[in-house]
Amino acid sequence: MSTPAADTAYGVAEDAEIAARASALTKAYGSGDTAVLALDAVDVAIGRGRFTAVMGPSGSGKSTLMHCLAGLDTVSAGRVWLGETEITGLNERELTRLRRDRIGFMFQSFNLLPTLSAAENITLPLDIAGRKPDREWLERVIGTLGLGDRLKHRPAELSGGQQQRVACARALASRPELIFADEPTGNLDSRSGLDVLRFLREAVDELDQTVVMVTHDPGAAAHSDLVLFLADGRIVDAMPQPTAETVLERMKRFDTIATSATSAPSRKS
Ligand code: ADP
Ligand code: MG
Repeated sequence: MSTPAADTAYGVAEDAEIAARASALTKAYGSGDTAVLALDAVDVAIGRGRFTAVMGPSGSGKSTLMHCLAGLDTVSAGRVWLGETEITGLNERELTRLRRDRIGFMFQSFNLLPTLSAAENITLPLDIAGRKPDREWLERVIGTLGLGDRLKHRPAELSGGQQQRVACARALASRPELIFADEPTGNLDSRSGLDVLRFLREAVDELDQTVVMVTHDPGAAAHSDLVLFLADGRIVDAMPQPTAETVLERMKRFDTIATSATSAPSRKS
């Protein structure tokens, strides 16, 4: 399958199956003097069944890119597709349904409801949607995450790593086409973080999921198949088969560019 965006986009090989893509995706916040161009005509394609990491300096547009690809935020210009569905142009109701049925989210703060048990938190999005969980799938997810003996606990009775694994199970519960994780290990100690990364890797390798993860940690990015580097709202590089060392080396070059550019006025606060 050949798509116009796939020819020029950073991301996957031309013949790869594409889970999501964006063409000339532009996002501006505010207007006039205070306008911020968070994304500047980004072309990108996310390979299906792959683990893609997104890296870049703070304020480079990583979260905005994720939110626009996930239909959580509107775009200023350009087009976005989830699979074959163009999501730019969907109304709020259609977007809500698409997010609910086809996308899973993990955030840095786990966003678990404190009064619900782990099990109830995991199935909450399905319950809200009035959908019956696929028991076999759910058990596989819970088993792979090692949460079987924690299901009755409330979030406060779980470690940070366990809470994030619950959030991970919640994101996977509906067996979404695409999982977005925004710095999912940002609040975790390195041991718990490693658990979550291993699980995301397993979700891709064993459960055929597609994962897009924002991280600033080269060690975390090394678990991915491909790292996309953002700078000032543009994708400036892509690195397949990353290792912590090669990612770190690449990031140092950003630092050099950033340092040499500090004399210029910054558009960020
Ligand atoms: P990152 O996740 O890489 O740190 P973001 O995508 O959060 O970057 O932000 C990109 C740019 O857009 C930043 O300059 C940020 O200040 C700005 N921005 C993000 N969200 C908003 C918002 N809701 N309103 C105004 N500016 C925003
Ligand atoms: Mg962010």
